[in-house]
Amino acid sequence: MTSPVWHPFTQHGLGEPIPRIARGEGAALYTDEGRRIIDGISSWWVTTHGHCHPRIMGAVAEQTQKLDQVIFAGFTHEPAETVAAGLIEIMPAPLRHVFFSDSGSTSVEVALKMALGYWTNRGEPRHRILVMASSYHGDTVGGMSVGARGVFTASYAPLLFDVESIPFPEAGAEQATLDALEAACAAREKPAAFIVEPLILGAGGMRMYGPDTLREMAGICAANDVLLIVDEVMTGWGRTGTLLACEQADVTPDLMCLSKGLTGGSMPLAVTMATAPIFDAHLSTDKAKMFFHSSSYTANPIACAAAAANLAIWREEPVRERIAGLCDRQEAWRARLAADARFHNVRRTGTIVAAEVAVPDGDYLSAAGPRMAAVFREANVLLRPLGNTVYLMPPYCIDDADLGALHDAVDRAADAALSGG
Ligand SMILES: *Cc1c(COP(=O)(O)O)cnc(C)c1O
Repeated sequence: MTSPVWHPFTQHGLGEPIPRIARGEGAALYTDEGRRIIDGISSWWVTTHGHCHPRIMGAVAEQTQKLDQVIFAGFTHEPAETVAAGLIEIMPAPLRHVFFSDSGSTSVEVALKMALGYWTNRGEPRHRILVMASSYHGDTVGGMSVGARGVFTASYAPLLFDVESIPFPEAGAEQATLDALEAACAAREKPAAFIVEPLILGAGGMRMYGPDTLREMAGICAANDVLLIVDEVMTGWGRTGTLLACEQADVTPDLMCLSKGLTGGSMPLAVTMATAPIFDAHLSTDKAKMFFHSSSYTANPIACAAAAANLAIWREEPVRERIAGLCDRQEAWRARLAADARFHNVRRTGTIVAAEVAVPDGDYLSAAGPRMAAVFREANVLLRPLGNTVYLMPPYCIDDADLGALHDAVDRAADAALSGG
């Protein structure tokens, strides 16, 4: 029997098996038949503390007995207030306002709209957005517009708005990026904002750059009065070794997008955090100046209860120690891969290690992809290379045995990719 379900980023024509997952616990997923699969990519970068963390599941269960949903325009509720207050406590102090939405893409759309609204409401409208090449900011039309163009976006090109792109800061060529940003900021038609993934470009191939470059880019934006939007949707909640990637560069953006790990990876929820000047530009007795954005489920109470539990886990459990421990174990693996000729460009930012398998056709549709996927299926690990780029982004609770099994699977997958078999 074929399923009517149409899956994301899936070529159904290839007929690859789609396992049915019945249960998750810690770093593992279990199929209907009880097969145990190690989750090496945190179920698409969302699961931070492990699947079905009892505290998050408990908070969700409790909330379902109280309030399922309420319109968020003109109403509020305790879980949303708790999450907002908790965020204000741990996020950079100038980010004082919290706007809820449902996904990373939406949090980006919201940030872009807030940036343009800021300039319009001040009576100095600006429309240009600056982006970094190879970035990913989501799959909505606005998200695609500020992201890299390629096979992912080719069919929709006419829908996308124009942006100005600065080069990715390749190691040793960072100055070219800074110069391009400086020139773009100084153009006669001033940009409204620069949007960037801090320290690591996720879907664009796990490309990494240093905190110094991020700090300098932020400095150029500030000096030129261009708003800085930092998309921490993937990097937030500890992935890069710190709660936020931008704290490693001592950067506070004007707008910040958070989602994925906001609920510990359990429920869809996102926030866009804004500084006082952005909020104040929309503050007026004139209704035409309010922020025109909502979705039906804005700040859903059950999702907010999950996020509140995540914040409590960050406050009360040794999350930072777990992350530091995972960083150490991943660093040891990075060093091993760096000495292995089958891998190129071996790199690590925090808990994430990535490398290219040295195949001749290195792009997203690389033939190495399906070969490696077959090995990973066989090994009962969930890994999903970006073309010939393999990476690990496990939940922080992963133990040595499971992490070792992931590392072994990558080893065998590289052989399969390179042997052509
Ligand atoms: C995943 C991701 C998004 C999109 O988030 P969704 O929840 O999938 O819409 C945006 N930006 C970055 C950096 C991401 O990694």
